[in-house]
Amino acid sequence: MKKTQLFISSLVLAFVLQSCNKEKKLDEVQVPLPTTEEKAPMGNPDDVAAEPGAFKMMKLPYAYDALEPHIDAKTVEIHYSKHHVGYVNNLNKAIAGTELEKQTIEEILSKLDLENKVVRNNAGGYYNHNLYWEIMAPKKGGEPTGALAEAINKDFGSFETFKTQLTEAATKQFGSGWAWLVVDKTGKLVVGSTPNQDNPLMPNMSISGTPILGLDVWEHAYYLKYQNKRPDYITAFFNLINWDAVAKKYEAAKTPVPAVK
Ligand code: MN
Repeated sequence: MKKTQLFISSLVLAFVLQSCNKEKKLDEVQVPLPTTEEKAPMGNPDDVAAEPGAFKMMKLPYAYDALEPHIDAKTVEIHYSKHHVGYVNNLNKAIAGTELEKQTIEEILSKLDLENKVVRNNAGGYYNHNLYWEIMAPKKGGEPTGALAEAINKDFGSFETFKTQLTEAATKQFGSGWAWLVVDKTGKLVVGSTPNQDNPLMPNMSISGTPILGLDVWEHAYYLKYQNKRPDYITAFFNLINWDAVAKKYEAAKTPVPAVK
């Protein structure tokens, strides 16, 4: 008996609830909240622009998710559309109305007054990130060929030794900074690192010359996916190096340039 009563009561309750529901307005319908597994919609890198100024935002040569699984889409999106554009805007603001506005980024960096921290950080941030995005591409990695491969063998002994040295420079850079492959003023390839947004074009750095490859080891470059495991991010980076792009930079860097006018 009790079971039957309970069943009937349930039916009545269900009917009453359904009737109430029918009286509700349509706009009260509850939309389920997205679960954490669902991905937030990605933006488009082509929509990112710096505020008007001397330097423009470089075009990202691939989609935000193109470097997956080595660097996740969200990290690339935040890195490019928040951090990188921030450096460009702050650089433009810092040099507005000064003679630096008419100079190339290489001129600004090579003649930099290191005490000018705003220009130092943001001119560095602008140049370094342009290089970083440029020397990566989806499904790359492997080893260089041609003149660059020969130079790496000559100056490091082997590609493996170069890889070990770059990995070590990137791992041991304490706190935020960059690891570099640089063509020094004698044309030799060297590896090293710099803190913050410093780079080898700036005066009085521990590594000096023209960077042809830059590896960002700021936490913002890897923390979402790798957390504290910087070495795993560094290993993954080697799967993304676009050696053709690095080789072009090598050719340009080793060719003597006419003195600045
Ligand atoms: Mn960065």
